[in-house]
Amino acid sequence: MISEKIIIITAPSGSGKTTLVKRVLAAYPKVAFSVSACTRKPRPGEEHARDYYFYTDTEFQRMIEDDAFVEWEMVYTGKYYGTLKSELNRIWNSGRFPLVDIDVNGALAIQKRHPRTALSIFIQAPSIDILRERLLLRGTETPQTLEERIDKAKFELTFANQFDKIVVNDDLDKATEELIAIVEGFLSA
Ligand code: ADP
Ligand code: 5GP
Repeated sequence: MISEKIIIITAPSGSGKTTLVKRVLAAYPKVAFSVSACTRKPRPGEEHARDYYFYTDTEFQRMIEDDAFVEWEMVYTGKYYGTLKSELNRIWNSGRFPLVDIDVNGALAIQKRHPRTALSIFIQAPSIDILRERLLLRGTETPQTLEERIDKAKFELTFANQFDKIVVNDDLDKATEELIAIVEGFLSA
């Protein structure tokens, strides 16, 4: 039986996690993105079951009652996100390793649940000012959601040391190389 290893990537919003995760996935066919469930609306270009499983509040509540999640949380005001047990099992059963892209609390929860088989990596932008700049350039936030993300980022930065590895995403290519080397070491151990 394949060992049930999990790669956890966590970071404050805007640190470059999605960008880096895409690069790791492209380099490793054995690693599969674990698609989370959430109740926020899809952004332009996002697809159900590829980026997230997009659900209504009622559907999400039903899934909580059905014990469908490894962990779930209200990540932003009124917006729920959760890692589905069925998703991790789907990936393990296909002979691959799930990579979860998740906020800090969710990452701590999965780490606690899978202490021997999870590798947790915290991605950090070089500074809060750079983080703000990247979020502005990404153009996905309103002034209000931007401030909420920055406040949450400041809080999340205080947890960086609780994860197995920290990667500072200054130069994108260097951060990619570092991340790929970490994943390689974990999967080959
Ligand atoms: P997250 O998933 O952590 O919220 P994204 O991957 O969406 O972050 O990155 C936020 C923005 O910053 C995107 O517009 C992305 O293209 C850009 N970005 C990511 N990494 C870097 C980097 N090393 N240097 C400059 N811009 C970056
Ligand atoms: P976004 O709305 O930008 O896609 O994601 C917002 C935040 O939710 C990101 O930090 C992302 O990592 C986190 N997130 C995505 N999926 C999950 C999940 O299943 N559980 C938790 N706890 N956080 C998640």
